[in-house]
Amino acid sequence: MNTVYFDHNSTAALHPQVLEVMLPFMTAQHGNPTSRHVFGRNARDAVEYARAQVAETVGVQASQVVFTASGTEANNFAIRGIAGNLAPSQMLYSSIEHPCVSRPALALQTNGWQVNKIKVDPHGQLDLEHLNALLQRPTGLISVMLANNETGALQPLTAVTAAAKQHKAFVHTDAVQALGKVPVDFYDLGVHAMTLSSHKIGGPLGAGALVLDKRVDIQPLLLGGGQEKGLRSGTENVAAIVGFGAACAIAQQQLADYQTHTTLLRSQLEAGLHQLKATVFGAENAQRLPNTSFFAFHHIEGETLVTALDKAGFAVASGSACSSDSTEPSHVLLAMGVEEELARGAVRVSLSAHNTVQQVDTFLATLAQEVKRLKAMTAIAA
Ligand code: PLP
Repeated sequence: MNTVYFDHNSTAALHPQVLEVMLPFMTAQHGNPTSRHVFGRNARDAVEYARAQVAETVGVQASQVVFTASGTEANNFAIRGIAGNLAPSQMLYSSIEHPCVSRPALALQTNGWQVNKIKVDPHGQLDLEHLNALLQRPTGLISVMLANNETGALQPLTAVTAAAKQHKAFVHTDAVQALGKVPVDFYDLGVHAMTLSSHKIGGPLGAGALVLDKRVDIQPLLLGGGQEKGLRSGTENVAAIVGFGAACAIAQQQLADYQTHTTLLRSQLEAGLHQLKATVFGAENAQRLPNTSFFAFHHIEGETLVTALDKAGFAVASGSACSSDSTEPSHVLLAMGVEEELARGAVRVSLSAHNTVQQVDTFLATLAQEVKRLKAMTAIAA
């Protein structure tokens, strides 16, 4: 049985063209970019080419891109690195951030920072009134994601940066889930720092980036050989960086088609979900990613449904894939005010340009059967 992959927000398959451009840097072109010889020069040129590709995708200059090993590292670097050069004041982050933002944010408390969460509304979008109320206190740094990984809800970043400007606070955005799915422009958003990750857009694992405004003074997380202008020491993962650059260029080129295709499939999916009486989270009145649908059925655990669907040939996620070894209900849904029982049932389908109408049709038929079966089992148990 060929399992259908509906978990692209977790990680996307490597694009074949990306693999092609990476292969020479894993074989014959194995130079270290700091070496003076031809192998080193070639590796260095390739890294710089990729840097320009990443920069172009988000509308900045190449010199503003610092390569990291992951989105997680870039988020940690942004929060610790920017806060590290400021006198402690207040740091704000939204209540729906990925743990690789919330955990380094909370860790700032040990350095004398006051760390507070900004609420979201029932659609999963930032509560701007709450942000403005919190901003009455002196604030150094705000981190709000561009798109949520679970609901797909897009956040009002331009309103955040406008509010922050009045209070002279720096704004970081985790754009890991937005890249390749919606247009992302660093300066249109008005942010000071932006996190990107390669493997969510058809690039390889092992590459990410922090994009920085030129006025931002940031401390490195890693000290050593002084690569990335001293901001991220460690020999560059040349093949992964080259792949990340290529994936950005491809994603940019295919963005319009991607959006049309995934929007169509998601509408088909959600029409079916409504017929099955699922609760679809954050879908109405919210601007969101075109590929993501997050839903639940009363009295069915998300983990149970995901396992049943896996056996039936569909790979989907329960709650957040990045914290799937925990049995806690989705913190994103709890922040949106969803009751705990329903939040425990959350299942996420995240589509790609490679999925088809037929796959969604078969999925809906399978889901209907599994929901019926699991509900019958719950009724027997009760
Ligand atoms: N931020 C968000 C919103 C994510 O969804 C993820 C991964 O799922 C990350 C950051 C972490 O990125 P990476 O897997 O590159 O460390």
